[in-house]
Parts: sequence; structure tokens; C-alpha cells
Amino acid sequence: MPISENIGSIRQKISAACRRCGRNPEDITLIAATKTIEIERIRQVASLGITDLGENRAQELLQKYDGVEGVRWHFIGHLQKNKVKYVVGRAALIHSVDGFPLALEINRQAERNGMQQDVLIQVNIMDEKSKFGVSQNYVDELVQKCAELSNIKVLGLMSMPPLSNDNTFVTKVFQKSYEIFIDISLKKYHNVSMNILSMGMSGDFEQAIECGATHVRIGSAIFGGRKN
Ligand SMILES: *Cc1c(COP(=O)(O)O)cnc(C)c1O
Repeated sequence: MPISENIGSIRQKISAACRRCGRNPEDITLIAATKTIEIERIRQVASLGITDLGENRAQELLQKYDGVEGVRWHFIGHLQKNKVKYVVGRAALIHSVDGFPLALEINRQAERNGMQQDVLIQVNIMDEKSKFGVSQNYVDELVQKCAELSNIKVLGLMSMPPLSNDNTFVTKVFQKSYEIFIDISLKKYHNVSMNILSMGMSGDFEQAIECGATHVRIGSAIFGGRKN
């Protein structure tokens, strides 16, 4: 299917999911995940009204950043400390803060740039060894430690459930993520705003929205299958 039809169909599904749970589709941000996608097709989605793009690798972000106008970039992949300098200031939002050393480095680079970098804390709900993100027991502490850093601002959480065909299980992971998100937002920490819950990909974004996601990151349902 042409990309325009894919996007149309995703927007309809987002609206339907919102209707089922009494939410406003305008409160959902659709991020097109662009890893391995060439610049022409990224420009095409931007021309079709996609305003938010998500990249996984610092190198790819650098290559693509100047090639698309009028969009916000999100950094959604694992971020190594030595790559932080390429991402800070380019990514409007870094979704993948998974430890205090990384937060410190982001803070340091943001200070050098004279800016405040918006970030999310990535939570690894099931403590999967194969995934990055912090254990749910540590999220609150990490948020509080990040709150002390004046050149980063925590805006919410990112969560990625295990690959699974079991919808009930995936829903449970989303619900748990939402619970943690609400618990922390109720604490009203200084220099923290819990407004963004980034969860849901091509296979599960409708469920994620029904569980409270504000940002969904969608790759293959827009661009078709990837090689990797
Ligand atoms: C690739 C990727 C996505 C999009 O995955 P699809 O299943 O292709 O929609 C979302 N989030 C992250 C972190 C990714 O790496």
C-alpha cells in the first residue's frame, strides 16, 4: 500500500482507539520511526503531515537531520554516552534515558550548548535482559536524581513490552507502565512533568492508546517491512 494510505489507516485506528476509551485523538502524537529508511521516503511522510520522526541511531540522526524540514526529531534507540553530543540539541526529545550516567552526560552536553534537553525515562517493565531501560523499582529514584540536573527535564516515560502474540500480556505491561507514570506524576517533583507516555508500535499501538499512551512510535505499518 502507498505510504499515504498507510498513514490514513493508522490515523483512523488511532481515532477509533481514542473513541473506545474516551480520549481525544489530538492528544496522541504519531511518531514515524525512520530507522533504515532513506531520506526521500522520510521527506514523503513529512509532506503527508507527519511532524514527528523517531530515529534509533545517532549516526542516522546526524545524516538525516538536515535533510528534512519542519519536523521534530525524537531519539528512540539505545544511546551510548559517547554519542550523546550528536543527539543533544538535535532531538527534541530523547526517549531512552536508562541510567544516571547517561542522564549526567546528556546534562553536561546540554549545558555546553546552553540549553535544556527534554528526556523520557525508559522503563523495562519485565526486566528483560535483551532490552534497555531501568527496572520499575528504580524509575522513581532515577526521576528524582534527574530532577536535580538543571540542563535536562524529564517529561515522562517510555516503555516497550516484550515481543509477544499474547495481547492480554502486552496490555498488562502497558497498564503497569501507565500505573508507574501516574504514581510519579502524582508526586509532582520539581523540574519534572509527567505529560508524555511513549509506548505502542506497529503491532500494538491501539492497545497502548487504550492504556494511556500519548506518543506512539510506528515504523513498519507506515513504511512497510524493514530488512533488519
Ligand atoms: C523500530 C522501533 C519502533 C517501530 O517499530 P515498528 O514495529 O516497525 O512499528 C518503535 N520504537 C522503537 C524504539 C524502535 O526501535
